[in-house]
Amino acid sequence: MSELQNIDSLFVANTYNRFPIEIKEGNGSILKDFNGKEYIDLGSGIGVTIFGINDKPWKDAVINQINTLQHASNLYYTKPCADLAKALCEKTGMKKVFFGNSGAEANECAIKVARKYAEEKKGNDYYKIITLVNSFHGRTITTLAATGQDVFHKSFTPLTDGFLYAKANDVDGLRELVKNNKVAAIMFECVQGEGGVLPLNADFIKAIDDICKSEDILMVVDEVQTGNGRTGKMYAYMNFGINPDIVSTAKGLGGGLPIGACLMNEKVQNVLKFGDHGSTFGGNPVACAGALSIVNRIDDKLLDDVKAKSEYVFNSLNGSEGIESLSGLGLMIGIKTVKPAKEVVLKCMEKGVICLTAKDKVRLLPALNINMEDLKKAVEIIKEVAKEN
Ligand SMILES: *Cc1c(COP(=O)(O)O)cnc(C)c1O
Repeated sequence: MSELQNIDSLFVANTYNRFPIEIKEGNGSILKDFNGKEYIDLGSGIGVTIFGINDKPWKDAVINQINTLQHASNLYYTKPCADLAKALCEKTGMKKVFFGNSGAEANECAIKVARKYAEEKKGNDYYKIITLVNSFHGRTITTLAATGQDVFHKSFTPLTDGFLYAKANDVDGLRELVKNNKVAAIMFECVQGEGGVLPLNADFIKAIDDICKSEDILMVVDEVQTGNGRTGKMYAYMNFGINPDIVSTAKGLGGGLPIGACLMNEKVQNVLKFGDHGSTFGGNPVACAGALSIVNRIDDKLLDDVKAKSEYVFNSLNGSEGIESLSGLGLMIGIKTVKPAKEVVLKCMEKGVICLTAKDKVRLLPALNINMEDLKKAVEIIKEVAKEN
């Protein structure tokens, strides 16, 4: 074990089973470890560095803001926070934004808005929130409760009350749950990320939309992983012709600094009042200045590029020896390999390509601006590793 690995394992909480590489620096989609070995990065720090490492516009925005004001608190007005909220609303048609620091915090806000809306509209027994089996919404006690996977719940009960789990793509099951419970909201990822890169059926999403409209139930879309251009649209829900009431996002939004955002539409924009919610670091000027430089570059040209790269990856992996199936949307791609996913990831790493896993899949979340040359090289290595015995 290296010195760094030794110190880390002695002093950092043992919550992460880290891969044995030490990342020192990077440029674009190339990461370099302390031995000078280079890797093509198809993970972007779990979908965070969507314009790669050492991205000049983001760096300029962040450094400029650091030279101006690093923090003021939410007691005062600051420009990056207001400008970012405006940009997000203009790109989505949403009306208000609450800023936090992570995906979990964005979802916590969404849940609070949903509960308060339902309380005011229907009464305080209408607090149930339906999420999906196999979903992932975060690691706080409440967002764990929202997460429809028992493995994450174990040892941390009692979790926050009031969550029900519907089976993805089972419209009748969902209708039944809604009929038999006092439901405030239905919350889902359009593509279940941690659950194995599984897009929901368009029919199921349409059914959620119908149910929410007819029952005055809020539609909450978790775009923490799918958002900010990842699926070839600004937000994944835009692929499905729906208009959610609440959208949570994080990961790629910050380009590498912690930020989470909860976007609220016309119906719920004024649910939260003075004192109802807050976050000391939420709307931090540096994080917001960086995020604004990211959001401003998610345009049609970039999104077309995401779709083209996605098509390239799907086409070149489809039917290749050792690859059983592909799933996903845009540059959020799940690969079911004959070999165990973890083994494929480790082999790829040896050969200089970084991939992620999600359940039993190899998962790719490359930077949206990865160049074709790097992408092609990396895909060839994945194919090679998947077919080797
Ligand atoms: C990563 C993720 C979260 C949690 O985000 P954190 O920033 O780790 O709190 C929530 N929802 C989805 C869909 C995610 O992928």
